[in-house]
Amino acid sequence: MSALVRSEGLVLRTRAFRESSKIATVLTRRTGRVDLLARGARKPGSRFGAGLEIGTEGEFIYYERENKSLWTLSSADILRSHQGLRENPETLTLLARIMKLLAHLSQPGQTNPGLYNLTLSVLNAMEEGNSSLYDLYLWRVAAASGYPPRIGEGCMVCGDKNASGFSVTQGGFLCSRHSKDHNDLIRLSIEERRLLNLLTDVPPAECKVSIPSLVSKLIRRYAHYYLHADERLIPPVTRP
Ligand SMILES: [Zn+2]
Repeated sequence: MSALVRSEGLVLRTRAFRESSKIATVLTRRTGRVDLLARGARKPGSRFGAGLEIGTEGEFIYYERENKSLWTLSSADILRSHQGLRENPETLTLLARIMKLLAHLSQPGQTNPGLYNLTLSVLNAMEEGNSSLYDLYLWRVAAASGYPPRIGEGCMVCGDKNASGFSVTQGGFLCSRHSKDHNDLIRLSIEERRLLNLLTDVPPAECKVSIPSLVSKLIRRYAHYYLHADERLIPPVTRP
């Protein structure tokens, strides 16, 4: 018996398979990350059309082949193509990076609605013209993956208001007394700290701020550390 599944999903990557087919890796709402065999998808006029372009949000119908990790794709209907992001080299690079990171973070059979919804809201906001959301995304992905930073008032140990140093390994701000044993402190101004707070919960579509490079560095170091993502997945900040 094979079970038919209908689920929304995001196309993370595709690869050619045999002469005319494709295997698409899709992050689905219902069954986590799945590899879907799309028969004939590389033939002209294939019924899958543009539904398997990277970054496409679609509704997928697929069925499980017993004892196989590969599922068979029956149909792919586009819900939002995100074509606008693929037409511009800068946003295409961001889109590809985000899809690669999602492939790294997701597992077959494991769903993460918070991460899925966050990704959609960031892609939609990017398509509306706000392309500076990559660092916001990384900051929120870490939280959605179970590693929320402790950035409330004061030192994360004693609550002392004079805590300007953020420790990536401790995951929060520390006062001078509690930061003695940590040599990874990044010192932020009050404005930079406010910005980190803002990035934690502002709706992506409403985030119009530019992010200073020190804050970008902190976010990327945090994401590297907690998401086990190296520089191929999350590039370092190159701005001065
Ligand atoms: Zn303290």
